Amino acid sequence: MSEQYTPLDDIPRVLACARNAFLSDRAKPVAFRKQQIAQVGYLLKDNEERFKEALKLDLGRHAVETELFDFGPTYKDVRVAYDNVEKWTKVQPIDFNLNYIAMRPTIKAEPKGVILIVSAFNVPLFLTLGPLVSAIASGCAAVIKPSEAVPHVNLLLAELIPKYLDPELYHVIQGGVAETSKILELRWDHILYIGGERVGRIIAQAAAKHLTPITLELGGKNPVVVDPKVDIEMTARRLLWGRFSNAGQVCTCPEYVLVPRTFQSTLISALKDAYGKFYPDGPENSDSFSRIVTREHAARLQGLLKRTNGEIVCGGDVDVEKKYVAPTIVNNVTAEDALMGEEMFGPVLLIVPVEDVDEAIAFIQARETPLAVYVFSQDKKFQEKVFSSTRSGAALANETVLSPAVPGFPVGGVGASGYGYYAGKQAFEQFTHYRVSLDNPSWVDTLVFGFRFPPYNDRYKKY
Ligand code: NAD
Repeated sequence: MSEQYTPLDDIPRVLACARNAFLSDRAKPVAFRKQQIAQVGYLLKDNEERFKEALKLDLGRHAVETELFDFGPTYKDVRVAYDNVEKWTKVQPIDFNLNYIAMRPTIKAEPKGVILIVSAFNVPLFLTLGPLVSAIASGCAAVIKPSEAVPHVNLLLAELIPKYLDPELYHVIQGGVAETSKILELRWDHILYIGGERVGRIIAQAAAKHLTPITLELGGKNPVVVDPKVDIEMTARRLLWGRFSNAGQVCTCPEYVLVPRTFQSTLISALKDAYGKFYPDGPENSDSFSRIVTREHAARLQGLLKRTNGEIVCGGDVDVEKKYVAPTIVNNVTAEDALMGEEMFGPVLLIVPVEDVDEAIAFIQARETPLAVYVFSQDKKFQEKVFSSTRSGAALANETVLSPAVPGFPVGGVGASGYGYYAGKQAFEQFTHYRVSLDNPSWVDTLVFGFRFPPYNDRYKKY
């Protein structure tokens, strides 16, 4: 659907339009921000069925997953921003200080300007409309460049955003590498990028040329540590749900499970049971299982599965033409296995046996910092031991992937999984400059601060 791409020559004009609208100051009043935030909610509400249909076409996704991963977290962002934007934008006085109080020092939350949002394909509404809500809340203009991998969703975004929102302040540019490269030649006031690490580096380098501040939301391989002291059925169910939802294309998906050897067969048998219950007629016939976004990614996963030395205990089938990769469980995966290299971003759960929790922690510590570390254990000390010895964007016990849906939680990585946040107050702060301000009356020079003017003498000692 490249015919829907924005012509390259139009791209500078889009930025100019957004910047002029921003400079008109109309995005600043809180009442305007609230009205536009609410409009994002209506955009989604009025068109839920169309978005579900588009996501079915783009990702073969069931409506339940669209509700859970796209609608729910986006409505949550709308609600949190709408309810809090007044509080967030309030002028903040500083702590009392006798020397400066007469100057009435304040800190004002000012919008940075025009925000560029370049986002990934996997939860395309939450990853575009969520950050857009934060940009609106902070009083900025914004241009969204959604992933070209979900063309049906993009057509809707491009149609609906100008209809529901101020069309000069908020824009969609459609396109792939050529369009994004053109976009990156321009000067933005902040860039939020959500996607893979390789492109993250391209974005960071392009931004550096203009000294543009950026937020990078990247991926990684998220580990799970399983303790034998668990409700094993619940563990198996939640692990499979977290791994196989959206066909494994969720950035916080659990990728590999570190399990003590003595508990490995119990876990595998519980996973097989849960697998059978999820897909009683086989996953290929199930409308609850999504498809891989492109044939290229399906072929990439097929290539990785061919190279594993692990034992495939469930799934393993791939049909590249149909963009189908079966939900797959690979047992006895070692640190050197092909599947332990790059982020899989597909429905493949790896089981890595270890001796004990210390070996599990050392395994995680030896790798790049992930977006999430998961622990399944009913023992609080066990949970705490794993969490305090590791770093990650999120640390969840007895759950996977749910955290972006929690009101008030920011989403953000650390180390190789990125920096900065989207969602919530922290996202508002990303797009805000805290501008300090004071107004100093002339009598201050006589009573307090006159010693600063030459010729200098000893009066400063009394200050
Ligand atoms: P991607 O990096 O392929 O694409 C993301 C965006 O970058 C798209 O809009 C794409 O058009 C653009 N892009 C691609 N190549 C480019 C280039 N050469 N120059 C400039 N722009 C380019 O990522 P994806 O496949 O859409 O998403 C999967 C990745 O995103 C995974 O790594 C996943 O973990 C990550 N992700 C992270 C989060 C998070 O919150 N941290 C959320 C969702 C996805």
